[in-house]
Amino acid sequence: VLIIKHKDKLSPDYVPENLPHREEKIKELGFVFRDLLAGDAKDSERVVIVGRTGTGKTATVRLFGKNFEDIAEREYGVKVKYVHVNCYRHRTLYLISQEIANALKLPIPSRGLSAQEVFKIIHEYLDRRNIHLIVALDEFGHFLNTANTEEIYFLVRLYDEISAIIKRISYIFIVNESHSIYKLDRSIRDHIARRLIEFPPYRSMELYDILKYRVDEAFNDNAVDDEVLQFISNTYGYDKGGNGNARIAIETLSLAGEIAEKEGSPVVLLDHAKKANSTINPEIQEIVDSLSYLDLHQLILLKALIRVLNKSKADEVTMGTLEEEYISLAREFNEEPRRHTQVYEYLRKLKVIGIINTRQSGKGMRGRTTLVSLSLPLDKRLDDYIMQQIVVRL
Ligand code: ADP
Repeated sequence: VLIIKHKDKLSPDYVPENLPHREEKIKELGFVFRDLLAGDAKDSERVVIVGRTGTGKTATVRLFGKNFEDIAEREYGVKVKYVHVNCYRHRTLYLISQEIANALKLPIPSRGLSAQEVFKIIHEYLDRRNIHLIVALDEFGHFLNTANTEEIYFLVRLYDEISAIIKRISYIFIVNESHSIYKLDRSIRDHIARRLIEFPPYRSMELYDILKYRVDEAFNDNAVDDEVLQFISNTYGYDKGGNGNARIAIETLSLAGEIAEKEGSPVVLLDHAKKANSTINPEIQEIVDSLSYLDLHQLILLKALIRVLNKSKADEVTMGTLEEEYISLAREFNEEPRRHTQVYEYLRKLKVIGIINTRQSGKGMRGRTTLVSLSLPLDKRLDDYIMQQIVVRL
């Protein structure tokens, strides 16, 4: 059964028409470049975008660039051209200059021109056509690490003798962590970091909206269970202790879809998401490794959780049910069950390790109770491994 309708819309390079929770950042960028719309193509602007991987820096800047080009032309009759350069692939000034020339379809003589000369040709072209160029330098840290000071100065500073070259070109520097900026000379730093837009890691609610939007674009109707979105966004949400990375969240969604298709399921279910997560999540091995540091009763509690989940075929259990199971399992092992407060403490520890999730029940349950679930797929190997760890401690 095919449940993914548009696989390309799940690819990391795809830039959707809307980026939920980044609308403000696009507006901020528009504000930075607002003077260009007045037709003064000679106002060079520069802005630094800082954030961790997967916070939407690339997608947001690309979407901004495309929209801004359109609006400038359509609503203001001003020519703005946007070019996106990845400095991981093009990490020298020369390669950057070539890449910009290519994007503008400028024929560059093959005889050895310096980067500065190529920039001069680019500038003359822009001047002739009255175009303002916005260059996004993505993964700019790679350039900073490889380039020499002179090249860095050329790009980021307005030297008098080259200011004419620079004035038709604005820059958006995209850097992964702010420290690559702080490695720079104070004078350069102050110059480029005058405007800084930060991209914080996504919170769980935000990831949920991002995933939901992607599901609508890429999957067949009703092909993804809501629990899948909740699970992925809670796993990666920054406020829930995750890394806030939308790329990994989308990757998990995409893989969960493939697993569901392979298994012939018409719908992506929580279990598919958990399987996808355990493949993608590099921390999973760490979690398994950390089991060896747990003490006997923590392991018994975990084993009890697996047992009730297996028995009830549910994805979560109430704290009460889990505790009953724990008590009876402890007795099976001839161990005196620990008291309630201690069990709660164990639960907290297991949550910190990342092997379980807990949440408060909403309406519909008597009072409020804690619901406990496993953050890994229920898997026989994991179960055996836990048993083995228990046995060596008895
Ligand atoms: P960064 O450049 O910060 O590492 P990206 O822009 O490459 O992050 O985003 C990673 C992935 O997540 C891309 O596939 C991108 O389309 C998606 N993404 C990031 N933020 C959003 C958002 N707000 N809405 C929709 N998709 C997003």
